[in-house]
Amino acid sequence: MRLILLGAPGAGKGTQADFIKDKLEIPVVSTGNLLRSAMAHGTELGKKVTAYMESGSLVPDELVIDLVKERITQDDCAKGLIFDGFPRTVAQAEALDQVMKVDAVIFLHVEDDVIVKRMSGRRTCPECQTTYHIVSHPPKQEGICDKCGSVLGIRSDDNPEVVRQRLAVYHKQTEPIVKYYEAQGLLKVVECEPTIEGTSALVEKALEV
Ligand SMILES: [Zn+2]
Repeated sequence: MRLILLGAPGAGKGTQADFIKDKLEIPVVSTGNLLRSAMAHGTELGKKVTAYMESGSLVPDELVIDLVKERITQDDCAKGLIFDGFPRTVAQAEALDQVMKVDAVIFLHVEDDVIVKRMSGRRTCPECQTTYHIVSHPPKQEGICDKCGSVLGIRSDDNPEVVRQRLAVYHKQTEPIVKYYEAQGLLKVVECEPTIEGTSALVEKALEV
């Protein structure tokens, strides 16, 4: 099954991608990882990517598509794969259609307010980077890291204003992609539940159809 996973930052995409990966025994393909590994391996494509990264410019769609093309022909993708963080633009989605047939697009939907609330409850250890949540995953002692005893802090990424800004960017980028796949009849909207397990159950149901 060839899947695309869409969802806002903080919607739990990574967690649900892992759930699907285990369930269907297919790999998660993230373009972030593809770019990093191409650079690390110094392939022809990797060298091009490095040149863009070093000049601080965006890696062009064609290059991303070339990396994706290379990745989907690898053995572990024989049964399918899950794209996480791709496509980011309608142009990328159209280019993907030229190289691969997508079976379904899972869209994890969470209201912005819920995401802001969730993210603002996150606490991170500045020493060992362990993350906690004041409601869903609190440390044993308030404000103190279980692992190393450091005082927990709030990452700048998790500040409500920063989260709102990221969500605004996300909506602008992703809504056209959601519409694109909706028009193709591939979109499956999952209304996220408060718990990871609850959402996973809905994801599983969405995959059955
Ligand atoms: Zn720590």
